[in-house]
Amino acid sequence: MELKIYNSLSGEKEIFKPIHDKNVGMYVCGPTVYSNVHLGNVRTFMSFDFIYRSLVHLGYKVRYVRNITDAGHLTDDGDVDNDRFVKQSRLEKLEPMEIVQKYTVDFHKVLDTFNLLPPTIEPTATGHILEQIELTQKLLDKGFAYESNGSVYFDVLEYNSRGLNYGELSRRNIEELFANTRDLDGQNEKKNPQDFALWKAASPAHIMRWNSPWGEGFPGWHLECTAMSTKYLGEKFDIHGGGMDLKFPHHECEVAQGKACNGTEPVNYWLHANMLTMNGQRMSKSTGNYILPMELVSGKNDFFEKPFHPAIVRFNFLQAHYRSVLDISNEAMVASEKGFQRLMEAMKIVSGFAFKMSDSSSFDISAWKEKCYAALTDDFNSPILISYLFEAVNFIFKLKDEKETINEADLKELQQLMNGFVFDVLGLQNVEENNNEKLDQTLQVLIELRNQARKSKNFELSDQIRDRLLAEGIELKDGRDGTTYSLN
Ligand code: AMP
Ligand code: ZN
Repeated sequence: MELKIYNSLSGEKEIFKPIHDKNVGMYVCGPTVYSNVHLGNVRTFMSFDFIYRSLVHLGYKVRYVRNITDAGHLTDDGDVDNDRFVKQSRLEKLEPMEIVQKYTVDFHKVLDTFNLLPPTIEPTATGHILEQIELTQKLLDKGFAYESNGSVYFDVLEYNSRGLNYGELSRRNIEELFANTRDLDGQNEKKNPQDFALWKAASPAHIMRWNSPWGEGFPGWHLECTAMSTKYLGEKFDIHGGGMDLKFPHHECEVAQGKACNGTEPVNYWLHANMLTMNGQRMSKSTGNYILPMELVSGKNDFFEKPFHPAIVRFNFLQAHYRSVLDISNEAMVASEKGFQRLMEAMKIVSGFAFKMSDSSSFDISAWKEKCYAALTDDFNSPILISYLFEAVNFIFKLKDEKETINEADLKELQQLMNGFVFDVLGLQNVEENNNEKLDQTLQVLIELRNQARKSKNFELSDQIRDRLLAEGIELKDGRDGTTYSLN
């Protein structure tokens, strides 16, 4: 079955043809690690996690690069006061690299909580300063950039004068862009307001700085992604992803940099994930309209009536297509929880052989399988896929009640397909299993404490631990290899 992907560059669904047969290169813009990621950020990363999982499931070998932006992310092309890392490090009284470390750790922890797979390469901007200097030099040598007061800017008008089109990705017209831009303060060292920084001279107060042929400074944000994607995926690669809000100017600038450097369109398929909203407004730190992922999971927030397990949040997110806006709400989350529990119940039934076999099946597995793959390969349509999974869920419940029949071969196939779609592709986890993991960790702590009590001959305490656990239905057994437990 052919995979169709909506390409922002053409504005159409296209048949996906990788450059190297079954090997796919995919780059996704990573987080700017100067504060905690909010739930909106998580949605975008989850959308690409689902796309990555789908590609792998469909038999592609994916080199998946997602960067960490840990240098020079300006709120605009302004001065030192606009650097997010420097600002935050002053606020928290930490070194900028302590800010980077703190929020990188948080980012990984959050994505792990929601069962996102790690990328295959996770490069940092600070680890690729040399590559960014080289690219800047290349753009200067080719006449696409100019130096001004120790900073280097990309020359948008020069780019367009060579028959190239700044605005092709975001479908913006350069004349309109010029007409709509005020000449902001501090931008007068640029020839035109649309020109963007490849390298910025650091003011004396700027802490994150590196040597360059143009003096001490730091790289521009747009250049970072071009440098790292080129290094790990080549001058032209298959898929580039990011949130919708990055299309302009960030991705537009990446297209221009790539084309100016190498004379070729850097990316074949541009994918943009849509936004998460709350109260109908885009989730964003700056407006205060946001919720942190762990606040949703722990229940410590004023928006939701109770905590929700990360797998339920994941299920809720994937019930919307990645190109649709998703508004998060308590009602939708409660409905997702119900759906999720029914799905997991069906997974338990179907893997447990809890019904009689028959010679024939009353469910056309091959037609159903075809529909599921048609949804998955139609621009990764997770909501349609999930609706088909629920057709199977309904069938599984009827099997249990002996209102439907299935033969052995079909059952095997159904099990395999359901496991593949639910656990591998959607990345859902069984909540019950998760709880068991927690219980196991807790019991290991109690066993250790009991051993310590016995060692120090505090038998009263060690017996108390054993007896109270037994009263709760948990039996400890002392064996040669240590203590184990069973649940009665
Ligand atoms: P940032 O760290 O600000 O660069 O954002 C990381 C990713 O989250 C980017 O791909 C953004 O497009 C994305 N993002 C930001 N806000 C939202 C939102 N409300 N919903 C979905 N994605 C978002
Ligand atoms: Zn980027």
